[in-house]
Amino acid sequence: MIKPFLQKLLNIILPRRCRKCGKILHTDEELCEKCLNELNFIYPPYCKKCGFPLSEDNYNHKMICASCLKKKSTPFRLSRSALYYDEGSKNLILSFKFMDKTENAHLLAAMLKVAGQDIFNAGADVLIPVPLHYTRLLKRKYNQSVLLAQELSYYTGLPVDSFSLIRHKKTQPQVKFSGIQRVKNVKNAFSVKNPEKLAGKRVILIDDVFTTGSTLKECALTLKKAGVRSVDTLTVARVC
Ligand SMILES: [Zn+2]
Ligand SMILES: [Zn+2]
Repeated sequence: MIKPFLQKLLNIILPRRCRKCGKILHTDEELCEKCLNELNFIYPPYCKKCGFPLSEDNYNHKMICASCLKKKSTPFRLSRSALYYDEGSKNLILSFKFMDKTENAHLLAAMLKVAGQDIFNAGADVLIPVPLHYTRLLKRKYNQSVLLAQELSYYTGLPVDSFSLIRHKKTQPQVKFSGIQRVKNVKNAFSVKNPEKLAGKRVILIDDVFTTGSTLKECALTLKKAGVRSVDTLTVARVC
């Protein structure tokens, strides 16, 4: 029985640590109990279209939020997120995005798999990660959305296409802006290579955080112009 022995040895040399706080774990879990309790998952009731949590004040039998009722059209079919973007989830996501904690992709994609059930049930053909401009990719060395999509592909069997949607314009980080400035910043920033490959497909856009949705909307509009059938968004966390 060499395998259990090796596993034991590995656990001593490389102990399993909580993905959020780094505490040594003695179980197969990915997070310690404290960190898991700090995460605020988005549970029903939420808007069945945009996934925004519905409070008792805006809960109605249609299960559609006020904003979706008002809007005439949105480029998304469905949007879902696993977590509230708050103090409980921030460092898990930021360390994954900026501090090379790429091993967190496995855990975060498992959350996407759960949060995306409505989308998978509605039917989807391909996962497309929100692209980075190549200069930012060279600097950061990896695109966190590509890693998420690849892990999610492993859970769902859906293929990943990380080459067809391109960010050809070098945009400023959205975090510098708010509201309309965010829309302007990403305007005409994306294009589709080989649109015939995506024509008629149902796309799930993958990203880490849904803040105002400006980047995801611009991606969706670009994809729709290129002939895709529908666009859903699936993100780890959402600013609510
Ligand atoms: Zn922890
Ligand atoms: Zn809504």
